[in-house]
Amino acid sequence: GRPTCECNTCYTGADCSVLLSNCSADVNSGDPLFLEPYWMSHSSESAVVFSGWHRMSYATTDRYQSIELEKHIRYLHAAVGNAITHDKYLVFGSGSTQLLNALVYALSPENSSSAATASVVATAPYYAMYKEQTNLFNGREYEWKGVTSKWMNSNKTNFIEFVTSPNNPDSLLRDSVIAHSSVIYDHAYYWPHFTAIPAPADGDVMIFTVSKVSGHASSRFGWAFIKDENVYNKVLNYMQYNSMGVSRDTQMRILKLFKVMLENIGGDEDIFKFGFNKLRKRWQRLHALVNSSSRFSLQQLSPQYCTYFENIRDPSPAYAWLKCENEEDVDCEEVLTKGGIISRGGMIFEASTRYTRLSLLKTDDHFEMLLQKLKPLVASSKENH
Ligand code: PMP
Repeated sequence: GRPTCECNTCYTGADCSVLLSNCSADVNSGDPLFLEPYWMSHSSESAVVFSGWHRMSYATTDRYQSIELEKHIRYLHAAVGNAITHDKYLVFGSGSTQLLNALVYALSPENSSSAATASVVATAPYYAMYKEQTNLFNGREYEWKGVTSKWMNSNKTNFIEFVTSPNNPDSLLRDSVIAHSSVIYDHAYYWPHFTAIPAPADGDVMIFTVSKVSGHASSRFGWAFIKDENVYNKVLNYMQYNSMGVSRDTQMRILKLFKVMLENIGGDEDIFKFGFNKLRKRWQRLHALVNSSSRFSLQQLSPQYCTYFENIRDPSPAYAWLKCENEEDVDCEEVLTKGGIISRGGMIFEASTRYTRLSLLKTDDHFEMLLQKLKPLVASSKENH
């Protein structure tokens, strides 16, 4: 069972059953703890133990990547049917975060003159890391150039476009909008927990992360599939000079987790069934509450055919993209903060302050607290209107 020395947010007491007063529902981060109960019920099966002498060397393979893990990543995609991988190279990263810049670097022109500098863009609302990271490194060969809408009618070339599908924050499936851009598909959420899988993804550059598929954000493990050999070699170079590959300890842990996930696919203990059912129920309850008044609205998501579950399935998004509809509620994040809910405001995604993002990925406690704090806010509009 759960250790009693450390309670979840907002609870205290010997058995963690006492609710703290003045405690906010913190649904800001995308911490994927909704999967923690799955791994609790697969505790011994998923454990990894290795002794002090084991795997001390820098050397694994020439690319610092476990061949077994590469194979199992490909098995997992084949079993889920969410990506075509046989014709692509595979590179590991310390979280997909490390791969984002590795790919911007690899897709940027070599020996650039300022005319050829790549413009890095994304469509709002977008995941803020793309901008933060591109600005941080600010290489001569690439430059952050803001939202795609600024460039729709421009003659400029050399675009690198981040396409997040399903999108963070609004969970909609997306495609590129700029003709002839080099696209980095961020498929962090393209798993049956979060979305229907209409067809396997087949982009030339696709990023995935263990953070959102098994929930092990702490391990810092992501991977990219890359079609072009030249781009692949540049990413390998980047990994060589940036960190000399991903932690071998992490690779061993992820291999074990993927083996457990693969063994259970299609059965009662399928992690995707678990994740989908949990997030679907959360979305249904949140949806019903928000729709009980006109003060707030949510992004529109429809049931869709899923090749993994082989049926038309309900939405089960990772995030709610909440909009404040009352004229006076100009800053939606602030409206929620006053009501005891910590969310991530629209501005971070380069969207309006009328929007704010609620994470549906955290623990049951976080989610229950969210509903509890949201109820009076929703109800207060019924009285006013
Ligand atoms: N891409 C998207 C769209 C994300 O939401 C996240 C995490 N919130 C990441 C990438 C980064 O994930 P990680 O570095 O943990 O793999």
